[in-house]
Amino acid sequence: MPYTPDAVRHVKLSTACLPLSTPISDAKVFTGRQKPMTEVVFLFAEISTEQGWSGVGFSYSKRAGGPAQYAHAKEVAQGLIGEDPNDIAKVYDKLLWAGASVGRSGVATQALAAIDVALWDLKAKRAGLPLAKLLGAHRDSVRTYNTSGGFLNASLDEVRDRATRSLEEGIGGIKIKVGLPDSGEDLRRVAGVREHIGADVPLMVDANQQWDRATALRMGRRLEEFDLVWIEEPLDAYDAEGHAQLAAALDTPIATGEMLASVAEHVRLIESRACDIIQPDAPRVGGITQFLRLAALADQRGLGLAPHFAMEIHLHLAAAYPREPWVEHFDWLDPLFEERLETRGGRMLVPDRPGLGVTLSGQARAWTTDSVEFGTA
Ligand SMILES: [Mg+2]
Repeated sequence: MPYTPDAVRHVKLSTACLPLSTPISDAKVFTGRQKPMTEVVFLFAEISTEQGWSGVGFSYSKRAGGPAQYAHAKEVAQGLIGEDPNDIAKVYDKLLWAGASVGRSGVATQALAAIDVALWDLKAKRAGLPLAKLLGAHRDSVRTYNTSGGFLNASLDEVRDRATRSLEEGIGGIKIKVGLPDSGEDLRRVAGVREHIGADVPLMVDANQQWDRATALRMGRRLEEFDLVWIEEPLDAYDAEGHAQLAAALDTPIATGEMLASVAEHVRLIESRACDIIQPDAPRVGGITQFLRLAALADQRGLGLAPHFAMEIHLHLAAAYPREPWVEHFDWLDPLFEERLETRGGRMLVPDRPGLGVTLSGQARAWTTDSVEFGTA
């Protein structure tokens, strides 16, 4: 059957504030750089077409930037109306040029990410395929690890209890935060968790960029005995040279990349051989279109992949990565969606629903603080 071009008929942008049940602290709070996190702000894009297809996507921000993402998206979204939603690259380019004076990274492209994700969701739904299948999956499930149980505001006992619960829920690995002012306390917590979960359960640590080069090397050496899957963000996210030196000096793999806000920033990391495992975040780098570009480069350099946060999107992208990846399990976003992702035997299962496989919940609507519409519903 010949293809008949479709056209975007209606776009709804909304912003919602997801409250966290407990204020969350990582090392950035202990160094005084940030306050405990109490909420995550979302930008949702819902797109529907003349032929009756629809897609939903989201971007997010922590601590600041949510209103800016929403404001920028509102300025450019009219450009979607009438465009064929299947021409994602063309549409992305159009919206990028509409906001060219504020650049091709950070807030400007994070605003486009919600739209880009919605277009991919829509395209996969039209094809009747889960997004992973549309992209070309290597697997139907991805190794998964828990992060939300290992923050620094939780005591060692709490962290151990949550680790047990995560493993019982079929999650395969445990990540805990480090980077406390007292390095000895970091080591006691890592040792305490390793002893609790046993030698065979994958364990990772995350310093959230708060070590300097000397501390990272010293701590990296002391952490070698715990057989970690990786040490995450040991240094400032933009210190590619420091990461490269550290990665060369340690046996434990180095992971980083979640804070970078464009493909270009990731290219610098990849070309510097700054890490063993790259951790891009699709909403932060401008969406799925951008993520796929950097994933191709990372694979070419032989890097592992462990995307940051937003498992609802990243499960599909990780499933399509050639090398066996990890996906980060965070249940924080569960209230926003009707569906739940399944974990079994240490892995997260790619849903069989078309597209991302998510529907915005009534709770997401209730947490919506503002919305705007373009085109005709
Ligand atoms: Mg992290």
